Amino acid sequence: MDTELFNRALGLVEPWTVSGYKIDEDKERITFFVEPEENSLLMCPHCKESYATCNDYKIFDFDYLSFFKYECCLEVRVPLLTCIEHGKTPACFYIKLNKYSELYPFPESYKLK
Ligand SMILES: [Zn+2]
Repeated sequence: MDTELFNRALGLVEPWTVSGYKIDEDKERITFFVEPEENSLLMCPHCKESYATCNDYKIFDFDYLSFFKYECCLEVRVPLLTCIEHGKTPACFYIKLNKYSELYPFPESYKLK
């Protein structure tokens, strides 16, 4: 699958990439599956320090801007990392909406219980 077009259209930033998608024609809805490249260093969302990830992850779903005629949803596989200061936390995930702004889709989920 050529992911570059999808990555750019969605505003993904390395090492995050589209790993697949599914289309529900009845609901006119497309879901993109997003995850980081293997063995990437990811940032703690609280202090922005980079850490290697553990083998654990959490799936986050959220609605996104429309993708042509489809409603669009992202299903993001977010690795958990262990920050020295903040403990076990989902890695920072953000999308570049344009040159000037970024979207942090699930800040309320950064605290694991
Ligand atoms: Zn931290």
